[in-house]
Amino acid sequence: MLYRSTRNDKKNNYSAAEVILQGLAPDGGLFTPVEIPQFKQWESLLELSYSRRAAALMQPYLDSFSEKEINAFCTAAYDSGRFGHPSVAPLRRITKNLFFLELWHGPTCAFKDMALQILPHLVRGAAAKNRDTAQRLILTATSGDTGKAALEGFRDIPGTRIVVFFPVDGVSEIQKMQMITQEGSNVHVIAIRGNFDAAQGGVKEIFADGELTAELAARGYRLSSANSINWGRLVPQIAYYFSAYLDLVREREIRAGEPVDFVVPTGNFGNILAGFYARQMGLPLRKLICASNENNVLTDFINTGCYDRNRTFHCTISPSMDILVSSNLERLLFELCGRDPQKVKGWMEQLNKTGRYRIDPQTHKAIKDFFDAGYATEEETYTAISRTYREHNYLIDPHTAVARAVYDKIYGDAGSEVKTVIVSTASPFKFNASVALAVLGRDRVAGHSEFELLELLSKATGAAVPPGLSGLESRAVRHPMVIRREQMKETLLGLLP
Ligand SMILES: *Cc1c(COP(=O)(O)O)cnc(C)c1O
Repeated sequence: MLYRSTRNDKKNNYSAAEVILQGLAPDGGLFTPVEIPQFKQWESLLELSYSRRAAALMQPYLDSFSEKEINAFCTAAYDSGRFGHPSVAPLRRITKNLFFLELWHGPTCAFKDMALQILPHLVRGAAAKNRDTAQRLILTATSGDTGKAALEGFRDIPGTRIVVFFPVDGVSEIQKMQMITQEGSNVHVIAIRGNFDAAQGGVKEIFADGELTAELAARGYRLSSANSINWGRLVPQIAYYFSAYLDLVREREIRAGEPVDFVVPTGNFGNILAGFYARQMGLPLRKLICASNENNVLTDFINTGCYDRNRTFHCTISPSMDILVSSNLERLLFELCGRDPQKVKGWMEQLNKTGRYRIDPQTHKAIKDFFDAGYATEEETYTAISRTYREHNYLIDPHTAVARAVYDKIYGDAGSEVKTVIVSTASPFKFNASVALAVLGRDRVAGHSEFELLELLSKATGAAVPPGLSGLESRAVRHPMVIRREQMKETLLGLLP
């Protein structure tokens, strides 16, 4: 399988290994496969484990690696006891036609683990293929979920070292404790005074600083990023769409070939885009429903064909979806506009200059054929949490609740005729403050810390606190450093061995 950039039609023979190491194409576009492999024998995966299904589905995209290598990567990621559920990504049915796909049984309790548990093996394997002996230095600025998931993925992976910068004022208590207690011999976590933009701005500067990267290279390091536009993060996500469908067939909820809908809580458009690729590979998926919070730029885009980021930014209770520019959308535009890099480039330039662009009617129609879209207000999100608990004795986190609320808005109390899977992206305990408020009410949560609420919520509902979060407040702090943005470069050089 070869890859090309969404903004350029000259070079179309990047290998999977190159694409994983480079992350972003040299022209600023995103790497996409030159053709989408058809996966006709998916029914043969019915009796296989998650890890074997994932290996079979990823293989055609990652042919820089042998079947044996891909199998080994999947075993290391999904079969080594790091996921707290034997099925890795189990389905939970709540009504005749409605299911939740739980993608949060990994070590950090959010769906980012599905890809970030395997990405480090792909990165290390790709460097070996390219006979590149430099250490990969992963730099990430995080507003929460990604940083912790990247730390857990890269910890103790030979040939890699990871540095995560997070804003002191920009993450929850739980997220902060998850990061500053991180274990591993190759990990560094540094708090930056200021907000997420300060941390991210600083990281971008480091990547763009030729002198610094030369100094790092001289010391044997090559910079890499683990962010969600890397193809190596997208391709593992295709597997869980197939796996959910296969489980529905295996449990005789559907016949093989019967169409199914997915509702996906969406931020950077990475998760839902993997669903689109699954459909293009032959999975009988009818509609993908894109669910947004009050930052509903994607809802408007899918409904009108006009992308417009010129609007108020809302800080919501589903913070991992507080995004106004969804980077992975570029890949969808490319696939559905007739794979015309000039069109894509034009739209992205307009977005850069004016903050908005409008796609042509044919491309818009193609998008509408695949996608529905809706958004949930904060109040609707709280209601979805409390209603799902009251009616089904099932706790969902605020991101998942956005998807549930959008489903309810579209289909009402009767629900959809078509079997529908809501993609559940975080453990309810990870965002327990909002969940406890919705389920227990204001009086019972008042005055309690996030850590006390973990226990309170668990006692009140009978659901167990996941291992990644229990006892967090008493773990040893291993990364106490807090610096100013201006100190990022010297700090980085100082801490690398
Ligand atoms: C990252 C994240 C999302 C959004 O996923 P995208 O791939 O960015 O669309 C949703 N929910 C949770 C809990 C997340 O961590």
